[in-house]
Amino acid sequence: MHKSIFLDSLNNTQEALKSITLDSIFIGSKLFSTESISSLRSIVKDTHIYADVPVFCGEDLVKLFPDAVIIEAFGKDLVKDGISFVCPTHSGVREYFQKRITDLLKLDINGIWLDCARYPTVWDKSNPIIYDTCYCKRCISLFEKHIGEKIVGTTLEDKFLHIDGSYYIEWLRFKCDQITSIVELARKTITNSKKEMKLGIFVVPWEDSEYSAGIKRILGINIEQISPLVETVSPMLYHKMCGKDVEWVKEKVNYYWNLGKPFLPLIQTGDVSLDEFKKSMEFAILKPSAGVCVFYLDDLIKQREKVDIVLDFFR
Ligand SMILES: [Zn+2]
Repeated sequence: MHKSIFLDSLNNTQEALKSITLDSIFIGSKLFSTESISSLRSIVKDTHIYADVPVFCGEDLVKLFPDAVIIEAFGKDLVKDGISFVCPTHSGVREYFQKRITDLLKLDINGIWLDCARYPTVWDKSNPIIYDTCYCKRCISLFEKHIGEKIVGTTLEDKFLHIDGSYYIEWLRFKCDQITSIVELARKTITNSKKEMKLGIFVVPWEDSEYSAGIKRILGINIEQISPLVETVSPMLYHKMCGKDVEWVKEKVNYYWNLGKPFLPLIQTGDVSLDEFKKSMEFAILKPSAGVCVFYLDDLIKQREKVDIVLDFFR
């Protein structure tokens, strides 16, 4: 069983790290520097260090690329809603991403996990907030080239209706291509570097049939296309946040059996009872899961009994 934990910071977590036997730790790539990695390495020794790399989200990206603003079909203002996502077709965003991967390849780490490699939507809620994106001029123009036809209409609504009515499948595939191609770019950059580095991806745990094929239509994630490009897929099974009971973790582990490749689910530490937390650990590691990543250590160490549960599983 692969034993893993997610760190949100490097400050208060070092003592706890020494006491838990782990195969890997995940940490936000923004906390990375040569110094921080060597200090972490001195504590975790042989444990793999994986970088969580935000692809299309982050306030830094929104500031750096103001012309990569995401356009929503019904005029919802994502920036106003506090959603810091950028448009996946923006070439500057894509070049910036490749540079980040290249920089990470120089560090003493073992893996790169893509986060927010998708179109925006608030999925980790009982009632997700769905955003139908991106209808910016660049995306529409690229899509017109893709289908070899003009999208007609003077307003955003006209264009949305034309696409939705006449090119539903083509649009869905076009969106998935934007996301798959960024994963391909990461894969290619790693392969060309000749450095041994795992590539993984965090995925929203929506099934094909949910939210009217929302995994592809809304998020642009074609898991069948993406999974051959990565070593591990990591579904974020935060059952409580998603308004589900703990049995849902078991159902999802069963669902990802279809992938036919290793997957490492994440489970949440917050807002769950001890019994529920223990059950979520039990369910997350059921076959064919490769193990579990506990999300996250900074929260876990505030709850001594949950640390004991993890220690018991990770003996
Ligand atoms: Zn766009």
